Amino acid sequence: MKKHNFNAGPSILPREVIEKTAQAILDFNGSGLSLMEISHRAKDFQPVVDGAVALFKELLNIPDGYSVLFLGGGASLEFCMVPYNFLEKKAAYLNTGTWAKKAMKEAKAFGEVIEVASSADANYTFIPKGYDVPADVDYFHITTNNTIYGTELHADPEVNVPLVADMSSDIFSRPIDVSKYICIYGGAQKNLAPAGVTFVIVKNDAVGKVSRHIPTMLNYQTHIEKGSMFNTPPVVPIYAALQTLRWLKAQGGVEEMQRRAKLRSDMLYAEIDRNKLFRGTVTAPEDRSYMNICFVMADEYKELEADFLKFATEKGMVGIKGHRSVGGFRASCYNALPVESVQALIDCMQEFEKMH
Ligand SMILES: *Cc1c(COP(=O)(O)O)cnc(C)c1O
Repeated sequence: MKKHNFNAGPSILPREVIEKTAQAILDFNGSGLSLMEISHRAKDFQPVVDGAVALFKELLNIPDGYSVLFLGGGASLEFCMVPYNFLEKKAAYLNTGTWAKKAMKEAKAFGEVIEVASSADANYTFIPKGYDVPADVDYFHITTNNTIYGTELHADPEVNVPLVADMSSDIFSRPIDVSKYICIYGGAQKNLAPAGVTFVIVKNDAVGKVSRHIPTMLNYQTHIEKGSMFNTPPVVPIYAALQTLRWLKAQGGVEEMQRRAKLRSDMLYAEIDRNKLFRGTVTAPEDRSYMNICFVMADEYKELEADFLKFATEKGMVGIKGHRSVGGFRASCYNALPVESVQALIDCMQEFEKMH
């Protein structure tokens, strides 16, 4: 039976990315050696990193003066590296969910942290608006897509301070104005590559301004200077990322990804709103994520939750169980998810509705 992969992360990748990476693991560039058993400093590997950096810059239209880094540690380590490198006195954070809160917690060790707004009291069912960001903060940190709660900032905020963003789960799903940011980071395992590599887009002249000593490995300057080769980078995930970036370009780039994301999510939200058995969890329609679509059973049908999960699983749906902090269901619809998979889920929902 065909599986429809709605996993939240690690998650679906284009089939050709998996095949090409598998091929390179068996035989890298016809060298007779595996990608897993060559030096990251091998002549043949440098073009992989260079190619991935170049495609990152091209696809996201990254201006001059920025570096693209491939590091270890996940987005979670960036929660700490960002304030280590950029927080001199105070920083502003928008509290839109579990990940935003974790980022804020790390920053508190480095300086004053201002929570400009929060939707925690409403279990993060919307993105706060109408807040003020103090003009004298070192940066304003946002989480553009809240993977767990299914809310998303669909445009770069209009503020007069440098932005920092966790884009773990919506990178390459829409165009962004990188010039507004000093740093954009994320774990690659949602939209880009298998787990193990973290991408960081950093503005070169924003680095090196804080007065504290920064440990070598946690200093962005180290990795900018060494082109992500200060120590051994995650070679296999970087290779896979390059394949995804090539796929993205061939498909039409981020504008096309945005069109597909909107198409997929419009289809699914329309069914959630129409179907009497279900309701969406995000209260502000404009904040509904294109990437992670959260829904629960309507109150009158609460007892059917386990039945629907079983029913959908038997029809090939994978990974639709909601995160424990929201419950119900979450269909993660990342770039590589075909629209046919969304249709298959909708068919399940309609069939289940007929049974009740
Ligand atoms: C998954 C996720 C993280 C955590 O990423 P790790 O690479 O596991 O540290 C952080 N932020 C967001 C928005 C995520 O979706």
